[in-house]
Amino acid sequence: MASAQLTDDILAFINRFLDIELESQTARYARADNFREVRRPGAKMWFKPSISMNSVVYYSELSEREKEQQAALMRRRLFKATAHDHPKRGAVYTFQVSSDSKIRGADRYVARFDAADTEKGFRFISRHVTCPDCHASGRDGSCSGCGGTGWKFESGDDLGPLPPAVDVRRFDAPEDDRYRVAHERDS
Ligand SMILES: [Zn+2]
Repeated sequence: MASAQLTDDILAFINRFLDIELESQTARYARADNFREVRRPGAKMWFKPSISMNSVVYYSELSEREKEQQAALMRRRLFKATAHDHPKRGAVYTFQVSSDSKIRGADRYVARFDAADTEKGFRFISRHVTCPDCHASGRDGSCSGCGGTGWKFESGDDLGPLPPAVDVRRFDAPEDDRYRVAHERDS
């Protein structure tokens, strides 16, 4: 079996996803503004309806907080990608990214999306968040908060610690110095 490699196709996959995620997040806020106001029966305030899943869903006006969140939306930054030859899953790729909000971490590692071939094609298989104890560095494998991986499993297939990376690509660098070690390590 050929070794896992961060090809143009693999990088196009994550970049396409980051584009689509921003579009969908943007639409989520825009939707509430795009519908004519109607009074919901019995409601004391005005709602904006839209059709979703064949039923009417009512959206309230964006609150001030939601307006702030809307203004803070950003395309996640791709900091690093890694490729691994997993004994059971074959080629597994990680994409290590910032938040999708300028309020919540544009300058640091926030999440890791893993992708691999599945029965339905090449897909995301799991999601991790950075370990707050070591800021995703793993402390040379000694961090007790994350078992030394730098990451905490959040959802999807839990493959446990990945084998050493066979290919690593760095893109943006995080401005937050606490994540410098995470950025420099080859995992
Ligand atoms: Zn840790």
